Amino acid sequence: MSSPHRPLNPRSGLVLDTHELGRRAGAMKVVRTSVEAPADLGISVIGVPLGSPVELDLRLESVVEGVLVSGSAVVEVRGECVRCLGEVSDQLEVGIQELFVYPGMEPDDTLASRLAGDLIDLEPLLRDEVVLDLPFQPLCREDCSGLCVECGANLNDNPGHRHESRLDPRWAALHGLEGSGSEPYDVLQTAPRAMKFPGESARRNEE
Ligand SMILES: [Zn+2]
Ligand SMILES: [Zn+2]
Repeated sequence: MSSPHRPLNPRSGLVLDTHELGRRAGAMKVVRTSVEAPADLGISVIGVPLGSPVELDLRLESVVEGVLVSGSAVVEVRGECVRCLGEVSDQLEVGIQELFVYPGMEPDDTLASRLAGDLIDLEPLLRDEVVLDLPFQPLCREDCSGLCVECGANLNDNPGHRHESRLDPRWAALHGLEGSGSEPYDVLQTAPRAMKFPGESARRNEE
C-alpha cells in the first residue's frame, strides 16, 4: 500500500481510479475535473482554503511498471501580506509528473509512489508541489508599500501619507536631553573615583 498511515478514500476527488486502464501498457485516460481542496494544503502564512476548487487536468498513461500521471493542478491560494497585512489572493498552477508503480513491482527508486490496488492518491504529490511553490513572504503585490511605522496607516491607500514630525518618538526623547545642561559623559568621568573602594585596605589588614 502506498499510504500505510491513511487508508485511501475512493470517494475523495484526489484519489483516482485506474481500473479502466486494465494494466495494458499504452492505455491512456484523461482526467479533467474539479475537486475539493483537502485540509492543511499550504504553509502557515499562505495556503489553499479547505474545500476550495482544485482544477485537475491530467493524463493517466499505463506503462510497464505502473501508471504515469502528468498534467497540472490549479488551486486558489489565500494568505496575508507580510508588509500591509492585507489579503493575498492568487491562483497557482503546479505541474504534476509522477510514476505510480504497480503493487508488487520493484522500482529502481525505492521512494517511488505506488498504486494502492487500482487507486492513485494524488494528495501527497499535490501537497509537495503546492508547498514548494508558495512564497514564504507573501505580498499582496510586488510593490506593496506596507504600513506607516508611526500610525499603522496603509500606505497603499495613502501614498502621500506623512507626519508633521518625521522623528521617531524615541529619538525625539533623546533630542530633549540635548542642551539640558547635563553632560552624559559625567557618569563615565566619575567612574574611576567610584572604583577606589573605601575601607578596602582596612579589610585586608584584618585577614
Ligand atoms: Zn501588502
Ligand atoms: Zn502614519
